Amino acid sequence: MAAKVLIIEDEEKISRFLELELTHEGYEVKKSADGREGLDLALAGGFDIVLLDIMLPGLNGLEVIRRLRKVSDVPVIMLTARDAVMDKVSGLDMGADDYVTKPFAIEELLARIRVTLRKNERKAEKTSSSLLECGKLRLDSAAYTVTYDGNPIELTKREFAMLELMLQNKNIVLSRDTFLERVWSYDYIGETNVVDVYVRYLRGKIDDVYGINLIKTVRGVGYVIKDESHEE
Ligand code: CA
Repeated sequence: MAAKVLIIEDEEKISRFLELELTHEGYEVKKSADGREGLDLALAGGFDIVLLDIMLPGLNGLEVIRRLRKVSDVPVIMLTARDAVMDKVSGLDMGADDYVTKPFAIEELLARIRVTLRKNERKAEKTSSSLLECGKLRLDSAAYTVTYDGNPIELTKREFAMLELMLQNKNIVLSRDTFLERVWSYDYIGETNVVDVYVRYLRGKIDDVYGINLIKTVRGVGYVIKDESHEE
Protein backbone atom coordinates (compact mmCIF):
# COMPACT_ATOMS: atom_id res chain seq x y z
CA MET A 1 0.00 0.00 0.00
CA ALA A 2 1.26 3.47 -0.86
CA ALA A 3 2.61 5.46 2.07
CA LYS A 4 0.49 8.49 2.83
CA VAL A 5 2.16 11.86 3.16
CA LEU A 6 0.59 14.94 4.69
CA ILE A 7 2.15 18.21 3.50
CA ILE A 8 1.48 21.21 5.73
CA GLU A 9 2.95 24.12 3.78
CA ASP A 10 1.42 27.48 2.88
CA GLU A 11 3.72 28.25 -0.04
CA GLU A 12 1.64 27.03 -2.92
CA LYS A 13 4.65 26.68 -5.23
CA ILE A 14 6.50 24.41 -2.81
CA SER A 15 3.53 22.26 -1.84
CA ARG A 16 2.48 21.77 -5.45
CA PHE A 17 6.04 20.80 -6.37
CA LEU A 18 6.19 18.38 -3.46
CA GLU A 19 2.84 16.90 -4.38
CA LEU A 20 3.98 16.28 -7.96
CA GLU A 21 7.30 14.73 -6.96
CA LEU A 22 5.87 12.58 -4.19
CA THR A 23 2.97 11.38 -6.28
CA HIS A 24 5.44 10.50 -8.99
CA GLU A 25 7.39 8.45 -6.42
CA GLY A 26 4.22 6.52 -5.62
CA TYR A 27 3.20 8.27 -2.42
CA GLU A 28 -0.34 9.28 -1.69
CA VAL A 29 -0.41 12.98 -0.90
CA LYS A 30 -2.71 15.29 1.03
CA LYS A 31 -1.99 19.00 1.34
CA SER A 32 -2.92 21.69 3.81
CA ALA A 33 -1.85 25.35 3.70
CA ASP A 34 -2.96 26.13 7.24
CA GLY A 35 -1.42 25.07 10.55
CA ARG A 36 -4.68 24.51 12.37
CA GLU A 37 -6.27 22.53 9.55
CA GLY A 38 -3.04 20.58 9.05
CA LEU A 39 -2.95 19.67 12.73
CA ASP A 40 -6.55 18.45 12.59
CA LEU A 41 -5.74 16.29 9.58
CA ALA A 42 -2.64 14.87 11.27
CA LEU A 43 -4.63 14.18 14.45
CA ALA A 44 -7.33 12.40 12.49
CA GLY A 45 -4.57 9.92 11.64
CA GLY A 46 -3.96 7.67 8.69
CA PHE A 47 -0.73 9.34 7.56
CA ASP A 48 2.63 7.61 7.47
CA ILE A 49 4.61 10.82 7.53
CA VAL A 50 4.05 14.57 7.85
CA LEU A 51 6.09 17.28 6.10
CA LEU A 52 5.72 20.39 8.19
CA ASP A 53 6.57 24.00 7.37
CA ILE A 54 7.31 26.32 10.31
CA MET A 55 5.90 29.69 9.26
CA LEU A 56 2.23 28.91 8.72
CA PRO A 57 -1.04 30.77 9.01
CA GLY A 58 -3.45 29.55 11.66
CA LEU A 59 -0.88 27.85 13.88
CA ASN A 60 2.89 27.81 13.41
CA GLY A 61 4.70 24.56 12.73
CA LEU A 62 6.33 24.37 16.15
CA GLU A 63 2.96 24.65 17.83
CA VAL A 64 1.57 22.04 15.43
CA ILE A 65 4.23 19.52 16.40
CA ARG A 66 3.94 20.33 20.10
CA ARG A 67 0.23 19.56 20.04
CA LEU A 68 0.59 16.60 17.69
CA ARG A 69 3.19 14.92 19.91
CA LYS A 70 0.81 14.88 22.87
CA VAL A 71 -1.11 12.12 21.16
CA SER A 72 0.70 10.92 18.05
CA ASP A 73 4.04 9.40 17.07
CA VAL A 74 3.56 9.92 13.35
CA PRO A 75 6.96 10.75 11.83
CA VAL A 76 7.43 14.46 11.10
CA ILE A 77 10.02 16.09 8.85
CA MET A 78 10.24 19.85 9.22
CA LEU A 79 10.78 22.17 6.32
CA THR A 80 12.79 25.05 7.76
CA ALA A 81 14.30 28.27 6.48
CA ARG A 82 18.04 28.31 5.86
CA ASP A 83 19.07 30.45 8.81
CA ALA A 84 16.38 29.48 11.30
CA VAL A 85 18.68 27.41 13.54
CA MET A 86 16.42 27.87 16.53
CA ASP A 87 13.47 26.45 14.60
CA LYS A 88 15.41 23.27 13.87
CA VAL A 89 16.52 22.89 17.47
CA SER A 90 13.07 23.58 18.91
CA GLY A 91 11.42 21.36 16.32
CA LEU A 92 13.69 18.42 17.11
CA ASP A 93 13.25 19.05 20.84
CA MET A 94 9.52 18.91 20.37
CA GLY A 95 9.75 15.56 18.66
CA ALA A 96 10.29 16.16 14.96
CA ASP A 97 12.14 13.23 13.40
CA ASP A 98 14.22 15.20 10.96
CA TYR A 99 14.36 18.44 8.99
CA VAL A 100 15.39 19.77 5.61
CA THR A 101 16.44 23.32 4.94
CA LYS A 102 14.69 25.32 2.25
CA PRO A 103 15.51 25.52 -0.58
CA PHE A 104 16.11 21.76 -0.57
CA ALA A 105 17.01 19.29 -3.26
CA ILE A 106 14.08 16.95 -3.79
CA GLU A 107 16.45 13.94 -3.78
CA GLU A 108 17.55 14.82 -0.28
CA LEU A 109 14.00 15.12 0.96
CA LEU A 110 13.00 11.84 -0.70
CA ALA A 111 15.96 10.11 0.93
CA ARG A 112 15.05 11.52 4.34
CA ILE A 113 11.46 10.42 3.90
CA ARG A 114 12.58 6.88 3.06
CA VAL A 115 14.94 6.72 6.04
CA THR A 116 12.31 8.08 8.41
CA LEU A 117 9.66 5.67 7.15
CA ARG A 118 12.05 2.72 7.51
CA LYS A 119 12.98 3.70 11.05
CA ASN A 120 9.35 3.99 11.93
CA GLU A 121 8.53 0.63 10.38
CA ARG A 122 11.15 -1.02 12.53
CA LYS A 123 9.74 0.71 15.59
CA ALA A 124 6.26 -0.47 14.61
CA GLU A 125 7.45 -4.06 14.18
CA LYS A 126 8.86 -4.00 17.68
CA THR A 127 5.74 -2.57 19.26
CA SER A 128 3.34 -4.67 17.25
CA SER A 129 4.77 -7.83 18.74
CA SER A 130 4.31 -6.48 22.23
CA LEU A 131 1.25 -5.92 24.33
CA LEU A 132 -1.25 -3.16 23.81
CA GLU A 133 -2.95 -2.00 26.95
CA CYS A 134 -5.54 0.39 28.21
CA GLY A 135 -6.34 0.23 31.88
CA LYS A 136 -7.17 -3.39 32.65
CA LEU A 137 -7.62 -4.28 29.00
CA ARG A 138 -4.73 -6.10 27.33
CA LEU A 139 -4.41 -7.11 23.74
CA ASP A 140 -1.57 -9.40 22.67
CA SER A 141 -1.34 -9.32 18.89
CA ALA A 142 1.26 -12.09 18.76
CA ALA A 143 -0.76 -14.50 20.88
CA TYR A 144 -4.01 -13.16 19.44
CA THR A 145 -5.63 -12.79 22.83
CA VAL A 146 -7.60 -10.10 24.62
CA THR A 147 -8.20 -10.01 28.34
CA TYR A 148 -9.89 -7.65 30.78
CA ASP A 149 -8.50 -7.82 34.28
CA GLY A 150 -7.21 -11.27 33.36
CA ASN A 151 -10.55 -12.52 31.99
CA PRO A 152 -10.35 -13.70 28.39
CA ILE A 153 -12.56 -11.96 25.82
CA GLU A 154 -13.48 -13.86 22.68
CA LEU A 155 -13.41 -11.66 19.59
CA THR A 156 -13.91 -12.35 15.91
CA LYS A 157 -11.11 -11.48 13.51
CA ARG A 158 -12.66 -8.13 12.56
CA GLU A 159 -13.49 -7.18 16.11
CA PHE A 160 -9.93 -7.98 17.10
CA ALA A 161 -8.53 -5.89 14.24
CA MET A 162 -10.74 -2.94 15.17
CA LEU A 163 -9.76 -3.08 18.81
CA GLU A 164 -6.09 -3.44 17.87
CA LEU A 165 -6.30 -0.40 15.59
CA MET A 166 -7.89 1.71 18.31
CA LEU A 167 -5.33 0.61 20.91
CA GLN A 168 -2.47 1.34 18.51
CA ASN A 169 -3.91 4.83 18.07
CA LYS A 170 -4.92 5.58 21.63
CA ASN A 171 -6.30 9.11 22.12
CA ILE A 172 -6.64 9.58 18.37
CA VAL A 173 -10.14 9.73 16.99
CA LEU A 174 -10.42 7.30 14.09
CA SER A 175 -12.97 7.99 11.38
CA ARG A 176 -15.24 5.36 9.90
CA ASP A 177 -13.25 5.66 6.67
CA THR A 178 -10.04 4.87 8.55
CA PHE A 179 -11.60 1.73 9.99
CA LEU A 180 -12.86 0.69 6.58
CA GLU A 181 -9.44 1.23 5.02
CA ARG A 182 -7.44 -0.52 7.71
CA VAL A 183 -9.76 -3.25 8.92
CA TRP A 184 -11.83 -4.05 5.88
CA SER A 185 -9.97 -3.31 2.70
CA TYR A 186 -8.52 -0.25 1.17
CA ASP A 187 -11.19 0.07 -1.48
CA TYR A 188 -14.10 -1.24 0.53
CA ILE A 189 -17.35 -0.22 -1.09
CA GLY A 190 -20.40 -0.47 1.05
CA GLU A 191 -22.13 1.00 4.03
CA THR A 192 -19.92 2.89 6.46
CA ASN A 193 -22.34 1.94 9.21
CA VAL A 194 -20.76 -1.51 9.23
CA VAL A 195 -18.18 0.19 11.48
CA ASP A 196 -20.90 1.27 13.92
CA VAL A 197 -22.24 -2.26 13.93
CA TYR A 198 -18.84 -3.68 14.86
CA VAL A 199 -18.34 -1.05 17.55
CA ARG A 200 -21.65 -2.23 19.02
CA TYR A 201 -20.39 -5.83 18.98
CA LEU A 202 -17.20 -4.78 20.74
CA ARG A 203 -19.08 -2.77 23.34
CA GLY A 204 -21.36 -5.73 23.91
CA LYS A 205 -18.35 -7.94 24.65
CA ILE A 206 -16.27 -5.45 26.64
CA ASP A 207 -17.99 -2.27 27.83
CA ASP A 208 -21.30 -3.88 28.72
CA VAL A 209 -19.76 -6.91 30.41
CA TYR A 210 -17.29 -4.99 32.56
CA GLY A 211 -19.33 -1.83 33.06
CA ILE A 212 -16.77 0.48 31.49
CA ASN A 213 -16.82 3.11 28.77
CA LEU A 214 -13.80 2.01 26.79
CA ILE A 215 -14.81 2.92 23.25
CA LYS A 216 -15.93 6.51 23.07
CA THR A 217 -18.04 7.98 20.30
CA VAL A 218 -16.96 11.35 18.92
CA ARG A 219 -20.09 12.60 17.27
CA GLY A 220 -19.73 13.21 13.58
CA VAL A 221 -16.12 12.03 13.57
CA GLY A 222 -15.64 8.47 14.74
CA TYR A 223 -14.40 6.46 17.69
CA VAL A 224 -11.54 6.62 20.15
CA ILE A 225 -10.07 4.70 23.06
CA LYS A 226 -8.60 7.11 25.57
CA ASP A 227 -5.76 6.54 27.92
CA GLU A 228 -7.28 8.04 31.04
CA SER A 229 -3.86 9.01 32.38
CA HIS A 230 -3.46 11.05 29.21
CA GLU A 231 -6.50 13.21 29.65
CA GLU A 232 -6.08 16.94 30.21
CA1 CA B 1 5.56 29.15 5.21
